[in-house]
Amino acid sequence: MKVLVLGGAGYIGSHICKALTLIGHQSVVIDNLSTGHREAVKWSQFVETDILDSAKLISILQHAGPFDLIMHFCAKSLVGESVQNPALYYRNNVSGTLNLLDAMVATGHDKLVFSSTAAVFGMPAQTLIDEQHSRLPINPYGQSKKMIEDVLGDYHHAYGIRSVALRYFNACGADPEGEIGERHDPETHLIPNILKSVIADKASALKVFGDNYPTPDGTCIRDYIHVNDLASAHILAGEYLQQHDGAFAFNLGNGNGFSVLEVIEAAKQVVQQNIAYTIEPPRAGDPSVLVANSTMARETLEWQPKFTEIESIIATAWTWHQNEKF
Ligand code: UDP
Repeated sequence: MKVLVLGGAGYIGSHICKALTLIGHQSVVIDNLSTGHREAVKWSQFVETDILDSAKLISILQHAGPFDLIMHFCAKSLVGESVQNPALYYRNNVSGTLNLLDAMVATGHDKLVFSSTAAVFGMPAQTLIDEQHSRLPINPYGQSKKMIEDVLGDYHHAYGIRSVALRYFNACGADPEGEIGERHDPETHLIPNILKSVIADKASALKVFGDNYPTPDGTCIRDYIHVNDLASAHILAGEYLQQHDGAFAFNLGNGNGFSVLEVIEAAKQVVQQNIAYTIEPPRAGDPSVLVANSTMARETLEWQPKFTEIESIIATAWTWHQNEKF
């Protein structure tokens, strides 16, 4: 396949480009480098542009294409920032994706894998979340993704755009070969923050946000899924779209929940040293438990996550953070 990867300089997009290359697919990356890294584009042709630039998008689709598949990861993705600055989220995530969809229609491209999120579910009513769970986002980030999920249904109906929305739970880990990894500035995610707290020149105090949630140890439970397992799901979704017509959505997680303290405990085993932390007030908008039921992705896409142990996921992140290449 020839694949256009929007946001391919970012954490998840770059891992997908490597996975595509390893199985013989060709990719072209579009990224505005606002949060991505030029050094992470190692396996693809690169075009620096913004999805808000419609004319350039259409030109790339016309001249670098045709593409068998489009994967879209360009998005703002920090919950807190989305509450402070919703305009940024609706402009980038909603208007930007509409630009892309309209450019696809204009140039005759009809297959899209869209990066969605567990944040579309808001405060979950049950602990294992399947695709039937109601979508009631509680922040502009989740709302922006839900809006596009709905648009995808309408664009399928009216214009024949086939799509798969993949709702990630907690993406984490890194390329086991250490070539690429997770690098956000500021870093807000749990596993990188734990690991950075024990690397001498990056040392920043580890904070645990809340220990009074209704969970066995009082800290939030999340479903941690390795970025390479997300990559394989995207490729399977892209292959699925070559054969199936519709607007589909799948939840992607390991199906196992770990509390913040359990993740810290597992990280201690990986780094072989003590990890100090302080308990801080809860973060606004954090649900106590978010765990995926991914049965549908496993059965329909024949997806099988390979990194099922939290220690093995943390170990790949540890390899990266000890020797970050960018
Ligand atoms: N968390 C924490 N300390 C940190 C970062 C995160 O205690 O430095 C907690 C956070 O409150 C949540 C869980 O770890 O309960 C996972 O947070 P993360 O930001 O990694 O992902 P999210 O679930 O928000 O997408």
